[in-house]
Amino acid sequence: MTLTDATPETSAALEVLHRVFGYDSFRGEQQQIIEHVAGGGDALVLMPTGGGKSLCYQIPALVRRGTGVVVSPLIALMQDQVDALTALGVRAGFLNSTQGIDERRTVEQLFLAGELDLLYLAPERLRTEGTQRLLDQGEVSLFAIDEAHCVAQWGHDFRPDYLALSMLHERWPDVPRIALTATATPATHAEIAGRLGLEDARHFVASFDRPNIQYRIAGKNNPLKQLLDLIRTEHEGDAGVVYCLSRSSVEKTAAFLVEHGIDAVAYHAGMDAATRAANQSRFLREEGVVVVATIAFGMGIDKPDVRFVAHLDLPKSLEGYYQETGRAGRDGEPATAWLAYGLQDVVQQRKMIEGSEGSDAHRRSLTAHLDAMLALCETVDCRRVRLLAYFGQESGPCGNCDTCLTPAESWDGTVAAQKLLSTVWRLARERRQKFGAGQIIDILQGKKTAKVIQFDHDQLSVFGVGADLGTAEWRGVVRQLLALGLLAVEGEYGTLVLTEASGEVLGGRRTVLLRKEKAPTGGQTRKESGSRGGKGARVPVDLPAAAVPVFEALRAWRAATAREQGVPAYVVFHDATLREIATRLPTTTAELGTVGGVGEAKLAKYAEGILATLSTTAPAAAEPSPPAPTARPPHADEPPLDEEPPFDPEENDPPWDDWE
Ligand code: ADP
Ligand code: ZN
Repeated sequence: MTLTDATPETSAALEVLHRVFGYDSFRGEQQQIIEHVAGGGDALVLMPTGGGKSLCYQIPALVRRGTGVVVSPLIALMQDQVDALTALGVRAGFLNSTQGIDERRTVEQLFLAGELDLLYLAPERLRTEGTQRLLDQGEVSLFAIDEAHCVAQWGHDFRPDYLALSMLHERWPDVPRIALTATATPATHAEIAGRLGLEDARHFVASFDRPNIQYRIAGKNNPLKQLLDLIRTEHEGDAGVVYCLSRSSVEKTAAFLVEHGIDAVAYHAGMDAATRAANQSRFLREEGVVVVATIAFGMGIDKPDVRFVAHLDLPKSLEGYYQETGRAGRDGEPATAWLAYGLQDVVQQRKMIEGSEGSDAHRRSLTAHLDAMLALCETVDCRRVRLLAYFGQESGPCGNCDTCLTPAESWDGTVAAQKLLSTVWRLARERRQKFGAGQIIDILQGKKTAKVIQFDHDQLSVFGVGADLGTAEWRGVVRQLLALGLLAVEGEYGTLVLTEASGEVLGGRRTVLLRKEKAPTGGQTRKESGSRGGKGARVPVDLPAAAVPVFEALRAWRAATAREQGVPAYVVFHDATLREIATRLPTTTAELGTVGGVGEAKLAKYAEGILATLSTTAPAAAEPSPPAPTARPPHADEPPLDEEPPFDPEENDPPWDDWE
């Protein structure tokens, strides 16, 4: 963009970007979106987490006359959002049920007096006549509908109150609307546009790639120990999220991590509200806290420095997986998405679908979602290519996922599949029996276990025909056949049964290509690694050694400042900003003002503290950086852990439980 073709919107937007946010330039399509909305147009924005959606409505709200009204489903986070804006010198407020009447009045008065740039509201509040009258009396510059996928009825986060937002256009036809979401399958996209009456709006669809996230899916055999390895070898002292399916495994996993010296807290909808809020607040405000949670946790959490997201259980859909993993690395720094996946996951999920209530169509939809997730787990190709293809985007091998870094091998598993399927078939036909994977594998391997002898299974003609493969390999065969729909599970005990497609394999009409099983890993894939100390001492990968002590001193200053002001550390400054300061060592306020992320308000507030910190530490920058820690020995002395935690669908958390 040259100066000559700058519209008034462009120059005003750029000025706000520099002065208020302290950033040099717009990212991706931010500029087009901001100009369009600032000029009065409607927009529908699909952008991945961390893409920079907030600026797309915050800057137009600052450029236009009046107050930008932001509709957001999570009232628990409004305070943090407003705090972050206040730190930037933006006049922001919120109205929700957590406030007393006096506090609410104060915010309403500010709005009516035209003294708010941004006002956050929950959708249920916007529906009330009182709120609508209030908005009529003041001046609204735009409506921003955040987490717009909540309007999608078949999506995973449906919120009935969002349906009423179609009235915005009727009641305030001249106020521009911008709807934003990070969930973007073509079906959700169309549903949002339809329900919010945004067909005629301009649609901005960003690339969904998150190149800084390394996707890894590991074979599951001892998930807790694998998780601990991942944290100790790659993410010591980092903030992270660990997702589990059930409340009891959340509790158990958090307790296990704490026992092993990791600063972990639990979060699920069954906990009392105060403990849950305290745990969330620790995760947001302190550095290096790991939260172990059900999927009730996470929507709207915009902590930028989450360095890893781990799944100990298989997500039910790629949409869910992508949204959950997307909470890692919003700041653009390297982050890990790690999933442990095993036979038991497939059995569990297939069983749950089979036993689920509702129509056949509903079950078919659940199955289709699970199949897409399983295909990602079993692929021998680049994980990212698969993921992006699901969201309608073509790409090439990424070089930053496990299959790109250590290519997976495949093998012709047709004969193995035939052996396994014919064992299931013989048991059903000759004995009228059904068994789970364990017994079938014992028969194939020719093991004379008590249960094999009890049922005379050593008399079957298939007994011992699969002695050439190990147990892990056979479990891999079962898992992949289940994933491919060539085998099915049935009933409470998850017994194996044939499907229609099994016949094609048994009849030799279909070959089966399988993924070779790898030794299960926790954290061993990432190649590069910064020098890392103990808890809280994580150092960004690309920081020069001389800058490390300065960076640490700045972090200590930031922690003290954040504590004093009662805000999360990242509200003061992001890591990227501290890193730039530690490398450039500005000596004057003016110089400090040119660092990315240092806007006018923060410069006024923090210049003194930063420059003082630099003057005491910068000369010592010649000190050697702390030595890289040696990897800890494997935990050979620890008792073996349960293989895969038992699953209780009763205590599954729906994602919406947490909403008020
Ligand atoms: P989203 O809501 O899409 O997940 P955010 O709006 O929270 O993303 O932005 C993600 C991060 O990127 C934030 O830390 C934000 O400050 C930063 N950011 C956004 N736009 C820019 C920009 N133009 N230049 C530098 N940093 C940016
Ligand atoms: Zn890849």
